[in-house]
Amino acid sequence: MSPIIGLTDRDSITPRFPRLGKLRKGAEKPERGPGKELSYFRFTSENPEIEEAFTAAYGKEPQVLHVYLPHATVEENFTTWQEEWVAGGLKHRCDGVTASIWLQPDGTYSREPKPCPGGCSAVGRLELILPELLTAGFVGYVTLETHSNHDLRNITAALMATEDARKDAGLQGIKFTLRRKKESISTPGKNGKRASRDKWLVYLEPEPEWVTLQLQLASSAQALLPEPDEPEVDDDTGEIIEGETTVVTEPPKPSNGNGARPLPAEGVKAMLLRGVEKYADDPKKLDTGDWGAVTGKLQEAGNGDKGHREQERHMFLDYVFGEPSTKKLTDAQGKAIRVWLYAMKPDDTGAFPLNAHVEQEFRHVVEAMRLQQGQTETHAMPEGAEA
Ligand SMILES: [Zn+2]
Repeated sequence: MSPIIGLTDRDSITPRFPRLGKLRKGAEKPERGPGKELSYFRFTSENPEIEEAFTAAYGKEPQVLHVYLPHATVEENFTTWQEEWVAGGLKHRCDGVTASIWLQPDGTYSREPKPCPGGCSAVGRLELILPELLTAGFVGYVTLETHSNHDLRNITAALMATEDARKDAGLQGIKFTLRRKKESISTPGKNGKRASRDKWLVYLEPEPEWVTLQLQLASSAQALLPEPDEPEVDDDTGEIIEGETTVVTEPPKPSNGNGARPLPAEGVKAMLLRGVEKYADDPKKLDTGDWGAVTGKLQEAGNGDKGHREQERHMFLDYVFGEPSTKKLTDAQGKAIRVWLYAMKPDDTGAFPLNAHVEQEFRHVVEAMRLQQGQTETHAMPEGAEA
């Protein structure tokens, strides 16, 4: 594509998916003044089907939403301005000091910087992905708009802390909780005296469940490793205790038999099937983001270009579960793979690396599957064909 300057060039276009709707803190505006503050999120969309999908997923008056952020940085996810609105539309937008866009007397906008003329107030717009809307087939962002200074500070602080913890990995892929919470706020009242008022603020935080899950998964990855097949050894004598008979042996060495990593293909399969049993009764579901990570990390373990990696992913899943498609896996299968696949704690660069041995074990499975398929192909080869 060749860009048209001022229309489709990178300076003129902000890359974004369509906006599915808005999350609002207040009720519909009455004829005069602002709408009444609500204790929950009110979702509005121009498309009634999206509104229905939202209500079906979250109920009529949700106070808590589970969300993801679509962009890497704080500034991309959360834009904050001072804005002055009049009946006709936006009058000016500034950063509190300098206006960066303002309405000229002729009705057109100027982007020539000039000092803030006053009359503006703060607004923050947080872009979000609601996984339940994605699942319902609606691809796009939802915008939360807030005019509360408390919200602006809280949300910015939460985003900055998370960005810090993630280093360069960005804010995408983290499950956040967005909630309404009643707080007592001190506001300037009549006579210049400060008064305390209850307000329903917005808080954004990485899900504690997500953080706990990272730790749990890291420890259960340990638990999923096969039991080493080591004989019982008398600590004092170095003798193997085998029922009645004792055999004198060298001091014990680390086992290289069953259980040593990297596992052979059957070992990987057995380990993952044990994982599936372990998670069979766990009611927690993997969400769209979790499945995306599983698929992505499986492909990271493979070799070659994208198409080749996809093919290897299908071969791997087919060998282990008899089901090549990630979409058809059960949650227990997904969890077993996830625990085996990747570290739940970020490394120095903030990335979540594949676990040790994963690439070699993945390779063993793919080779085994290739061998199986190769044999089948040989049998199916027409007579006289060259091998
Ligand atoms: Zn201003």
